[in-house]
Amino acid sequence: MLNTYVQPLVVNYLENKILRLEHLLSAAPLAIYTRSPFNPFSITFVSTSFKELSGYDADDFLDSPTLWLDNVHPEDKEDALNNLHRVLLGEPIIYKYRFKTKNGEWKWLRDRAKLISDKTTGIALEIIGGWTDMTELIKAENALVKSQEKIHRLAHYDSLTQLPNRVLINEHIEQEIYFSFRETRHFALLFLDLDDFKLVNDSLGHHYGDGLLRQVAQRLESNLRDVDMAGRLGGDEFLVILSSTHIDGAAKVAQKIINSLQEPFNVDGKVLSIQTSIGISIYPENGRDSNMLTRHADIAMYHAKNKGRGLFSFFDFNMNAHLENRLATERDLREAVHEKQFLLHYQPQVDLLTRKIIGVEALIRWQHPKRGTVSPVDFIAIAEDCGLINTIGEWVLQQACEDIKRWEMAGFSGFKVAVNLSLRQLQAGKLFEKISAILQQTGVEGGRLELELTESVMMENHAETVHFMTQCKDLGIHFSIDDFGTGYSSLSYLTKLPLLDILKIDRSFVQEISIHSDAKTIVSAIVNMAKSLRLNVIAEGVETLEQLNYLTECGCDTVQGFHFSRPVNYDDVTKLLTKQT
Ligand code: C2E
Ligand code: MG
Ligand code: MG
Repeated sequence: MLNTYVQPLVVNYLENKILRLEHLLSAAPLAIYTRSPFNPFSITFVSTSFKELSGYDADDFLDSPTLWLDNVHPEDKEDALNNLHRVLLGEPIIYKYRFKTKNGEWKWLRDRAKLISDKTTGIALEIIGGWTDMTELIKAENALVKSQEKIHRLAHYDSLTQLPNRVLINEHIEQEIYFSFRETRHFALLFLDLDDFKLVNDSLGHHYGDGLLRQVAQRLESNLRDVDMAGRLGGDEFLVILSSTHIDGAAKVAQKIINSLQEPFNVDGKVLSIQTSIGISIYPENGRDSNMLTRHADIAMYHAKNKGRGLFSFFDFNMNAHLENRLATERDLREAVHEKQFLLHYQPQVDLLTRKIIGVEALIRWQHPKRGTVSPVDFIAIAEDCGLINTIGEWVLQQACEDIKRWEMAGFSGFKVAVNLSLRQLQAGKLFEKISAILQQTGVEGGRLELELTESVMMENHAETVHFMTQCKDLGIHFSIDDFGTGYSSLSYLTKLPLLDILKIDRSFVQEISIHSDAKTIVSAIVNMAKSLRLNVIAEGVETLEQLNYLTECGCDTVQGFHFSRPVNYDDVTKLLTKQT
């Protein structure tokens, strides 16, 4: 209970509305002000919170009638004046602007203003407004927007090339499908995969690989119109959407991209060359959804790669069957490795002077449980692509060495056994260690083994190849260059490979001997050049007497071909060896 002394004071205070309002105003967190509707720029009254927020009190405004407007941010001035005008017309308004406080700090203010008019006459009496400091909130909002933008960027753009990533590209394809459907038009999807990009990464390191990818992305974009879009799917795979484009246009752009990427790149002072293969699918003929179109462009790209490098291919539905076939072969190959379905045949190499077998080439055969014997031509490239060549190649080396040992035990040792090596086996590393382990385990002398490399093997990773050859040479292993003339056909590089013993002329030249006189000239030139480099020459694919005679005339040392023997199994080679003793 309040005592009799206090109670009248309280009643008195509660009845004094003005005093109470003054106290309420000073306690309210809202910064309250008033303006005269006749001179709306000038502020006539400010509350305690207003002073705290702005640093200005009523006297400051009295001294300078334009103080409020002078301190509104120039960018927000026009908007603030418009809003003030609306307030004067009687509309209650909430608006935001930046205001410079007395200590020079910019604050974001939320201004809630209202015109008070006389109820009966409607005459404007006063504007009442309240400021709320929004600075922190707006800062937080901006930070949120920025981080949302960042998240959006991360989720939609590839961080290496800054191109749209798979997600954004897919969204774009969906959009393109929607509009193309509505407007009954076509668009093209290009699936790009750089040729042998792995080699750049493996031989020069990721720094150069990344640099190259960035420049490829720029070059790609420079070949496109604004309405097109290029994106990176990952690795060395890119996707391009060509809006409102049909077959002709797609072919033109694909060729333009191929040509432009063929120009050398300069990555940190290193000049790099790369080619690209492109697969193309067209909406709606090759698919009506993003997945199908991308998959079909991918399949077409695959075909482009198989045709050679630096080419493009359009998707057609037969390719599907081809792909199924290839995937089945890959699956079966894995099983073949497990189930030991491989076999080695050997093709004799005959010395032209003595007519004796001085070597045999090991050629792999695959005994497929359903397809019968499968030629290496039909599976080596697939095994290379899916990496199985390493296991298969190791098996060939092991089997060849075991056979050498068996022949030795049976008294046949005066000949070499040649084994084909794939570039991938060299790239996989530790090949020398594997070979020397096999030689040791089987007890075979290195001198009994000859390794066949192709021109491309010699060209790629030159330094590593020479290192590998040097190590093998210490064990007495011989080296031949296979299919000579079909690869880079640069004779000069032969001089850079002093570790080579034998050159094998590709059978395409040998077979043309009887057909074109040019082939004769080429064969004789190759033999002469090989001789001057002190290389022995083996002619491959000798089928006829005419070819044999010409090769003898040219001074070729050794021949290999159906004329003497097809590739045959271990027992048949043994029979041939027995015959000549
Ligand atoms: P290559 O190393 O050039 O082998 C010679 C190919 O020519 C063999 O085909 C052989 O059967 C064939 N050939 C030999 N003489 C004649 C002839 O007089 N006329 C005709 N028309 N052809 C003849 P094959 O056995 O089908 O092997 C094809 C290719 O597969 C080989 O070409 C080689 O590049 C690859 N290959 C075979 N075995 C292996 C292996 O163990 N590892 C690797 N990496 N590749 C292998
Ligand atoms: Mg060979
Ligand atoms: Mg060959």
